[in-house]
Amino acid sequence: MSEPRVFNNLIGGEWVACKRGKTFANRNPAQTDDIIGVFQDSTAEDVADAVAAAQAAYALWRRVPAPRRGAILFRAAQLLVERKELYARDMTREMGKILHETRGDVQEAIDMAFFMAGEGRRLYGQTTPSELPNKFQMSVRMPLGVCGLITPWNFPMAIPSWKLLPALIVGNTVVIKPASDAPLSAFNLVQALIDAGVPPGVVNIVTGSGSQVGEPLLRHPEVKIISFTGSTATGHQIARIGAEHQKHVSLEMGGKNPIIVMEDADLDLAVDGVLWGAFGTTGQRCTAASRLIAHRDVVEPLAERLVARTNQLKVGNGLEAGIDVGPCINQGQLDTVSEYVKIGQEEGARLLCGGQPLRGDAHAGGFFYAPTIFIDVRRDMRIAQEEIFGPVLSIIPVDSFEEAIEVANDVPYGLSSAIYTRDVNRAFVAMQELYTGIVYINAPTIGAEIHLPFGGTKGTGNGHRESGPQALDLFSEWKSVYIDYSGGLQRAQIDNT
Ligand code: NAP
Repeated sequence: MSEPRVFNNLIGGEWVACKRGKTFANRNPAQTDDIIGVFQDSTAEDVADAVAAAQAAYALWRRVPAPRRGAILFRAAQLLVERKELYARDMTREMGKILHETRGDVQEAIDMAFFMAGEGRRLYGQTTPSELPNKFQMSVRMPLGVCGLITPWNFPMAIPSWKLLPALIVGNTVVIKPASDAPLSAFNLVQALIDAGVPPGVVNIVTGSGSQVGEPLLRHPEVKIISFTGSTATGHQIARIGAEHQKHVSLEMGGKNPIIVMEDADLDLAVDGVLWGAFGTTGQRCTAASRLIAHRDVVEPLAERLVARTNQLKVGNGLEAGIDVGPCINQGQLDTVSEYVKIGQEEGARLLCGGQPLRGDAHAGGFFYAPTIFIDVRRDMRIAQEEIFGPVLSIIPVDSFEEAIEVANDVPYGLSSAIYTRDVNRAFVAMQELYTGIVYINAPTIGAEIHLPFGGTKGTGNGHRESGPQALDLFSEWKSVYIDYSGGLQRAQIDNT
């Protein structure tokens, strides 16, 4: 076997080793003796160099006309199209989801790059009439400066693209710290940007742990914003430190997403949606459906069909043909899933299928867990309230539409929700009453498109949105400009009558 490739940090346009000379291995979760690459185990010193490079590049980049910045992003999108298969394979190897899904992840970055390239010719502000004669006024966007981006492993190219590309088009420069479990996909995205002509220092990437790289980035005085996606526990820590250092902080955190299935639903359609929502990406999506809130009249036929279909799912290495579900990301996540399954059983929920890690020859060397379904789950059980982030679905029976909505909203999170019903009135009431950032009708909780805002309410976020034109707001300051061409002193905001 050849030696794994060593990946250096990108600082000021140079690929450099970290100052202390330590590295860590990026391993395939489906086959842990497969080392994808060796990455820099950096520290605050490397972060400081990267921020200095980003700060120096900012002076030039913010003055590049936005349509020209857009042209570079457009070229990056074209390169990503050319490299899509290669990058999807790298991604499956480093974090396990099946090729079908990793192609979709790269595609999100492509879509985002084309979309933000177009924003280079918009970046709309506002013009509005003045309350005074011969006066013009408008609002324009300003970049913030150096942006610190901290990203998770489950969408290792899409999520970096949701942050990097809007930041760049507005004229910011960035330092990105990708997840240590899947850094290669962020490298691939950055490589496409560099090859497309992003100037040195505009994009910097520094790998290493959350505490050694993430925190110093967060605390650095020249970093104006931390845009974070990850777990709620880390997000809360970031919010506290960010407040002390007066940073802009955007947080995208956990979810506990429900699919409601009413008694009038098309059950075949619902079964397809629940399977995909619960077990796609091995349940490791922030939008994964981990609760199935089913009307009591259809619980039994629904559960029966779901179990039959779940037992047919093929769990294995996502690079192999015919595999439906990949591994958990690491041993820690596998242990968390096992622990929650134990908790569910102790709480009195009934296991319908799955419920154990998969071992044996077909699964040796990987973090595989059997897709698991619980029934007779009460809304207040821990498995119905806490994010598990694995292939575990809890079926909660309800007696009415009103109860379904109440149960759906009764969790600390508010990312995504879905309802299956043929009743258009109920569908509209659900759209109105479900308190989540994303709502699906007759479709599962996963499948957001990049040109609408993405994010959640309550414990999922802190009020910001990624994707869509709204992503630009995260990475902009607004400036209101007043131009008085009357030739005299005109006073606004006082009583002129
Ligand atoms: P995580 O453990 O919180 O890690 C996320 C990122 O934060 C990683 O880059 C991590 O670095 C870094 N980090 C860890 N501790 C840090 C600290 N003290 N200071 C600064 N950075 C720190 O989350 P994860 O396990 O990668 O991702 C899974 C979670 O993300 C789930 O809860 C999921 O719901 C959530 N998620 C949310 C969304 C959304 O849009 N709402 C989307 C995707 C995922 P290391 O990798 O080096 O530890």
